[in-house]
Amino acid sequence: MSFSKVAIIGLGLIGGSIGLAVRQDLPDCTTSGYDANPKVRSRARELGLANVIHDDPAEAVKGADLVILCVPVGAMSDAASAIAPSLSPECVISDVGSSKRSITNGLTEALPGHTIIPAHPVAGTEHSGPDAGFATLFHQRWCIITPPKSAPEDKVHALVDFWEALGAMVETMDADHHDRVLAVTSHIPHLIAFTIVGTASDLEEVTRSEVIKYSAGGFRDFTRIAASDPTMWRDVFLNNKDAVLEMLDEFLTDLALMREAIRAGDGQMMHDNFSRTRAIRRSIVALGQDDPRPDFGRVHD
Ligand code: NAP
Repeated sequence: MSFSKVAIIGLGLIGGSIGLAVRQDLPDCTTSGYDANPKVRSRARELGLANVIHDDPAEAVKGADLVILCVPVGAMSDAASAIAPSLSPECVISDVGSSKRSITNGLTEALPGHTIIPAHPVAGTEHSGPDAGFATLFHQRWCIITPPKSAPEDKVHALVDFWEALGAMVETMDADHHDRVLAVTSHIPHLIAFTIVGTASDLEEVTRSEVIKYSAGGFRDFTRIAASDPTMWRDVFLNNKDAVLEMLDEFLTDLALMREAIRAGDGQMMHDNFSRTRAIRRSIVALGQDDPRPDFGRVHD
């Protein structure tokens, strides 16, 4: 099976990018969209993020065979309840949320009897809103699908095909495993960035202008991550609490070892550790998951 009408609920960075990508990569598929914010709906119409943008969520999902919820993690259940009355029984309901266990539980509760197949495209930028979307966002990026055991196989395959058509590489895994993996690869790095940027700007002996002036020393790369959407990230930490706390304990243990090495002047320990992490960066570049150029190939205008 394949999908012929996709409804996108939430038309910011991810939802807007899906709409643009479907138009580019799946021209036979029609799209409808809804966003709770009237200004976003109006901008989405101007940008053509979906074929039709509705003012009512239930209208947007009528006749859809795939609905993708692209709202903040904490808004998923409310968004699901709003579309419940007009979902077709055959429809697949998916999402793009950055944590998976709490969303799976929330959607299952809000939409009993429906086929729910959660997903997480591991692709994004620090920008949000309808203007941030672009059609190639998912190219060469992983999309993790976390099908519950009860999900029909043909529908899981259809969702895999959908994401592959948008240029993504797809992997399936259990929701709990997803949450532990993403805690260490995404959630803790964001937490560190939010914290270090906050710490630097709080330091009284370093003025704010010095922080900005000398940011190329490393700080600047953290500020990109720390500029990510506050609502989205608040919801991620509220919803992936257990996995984040577990990985945070591991990180704090390693940080304490590093503090000890600095205190003891253990250069060998530091050199060994930094050599290992340098190799990890090089393997990420070798796998095509980042640009080797300084500034990650970003364009400066
Ligand atoms: P975004 O740009 O802020 O877009 C989300 C949109 O959903 C906003 O326009 C928001 O309106 C709207 N919204 C909020 N509650 C709603 C509801 N109940 N019904 C309909 N629309 C609603 O956020 P995003 O970056 O696209 O993130 C969306 C989802 O993708 C999140 O779950 C996030 O975890 C996940 N994700 C994000 C990234 C990333 O890098 N950004 C990557 C992968 C996955 P208001 O702004 O007015 O609230």
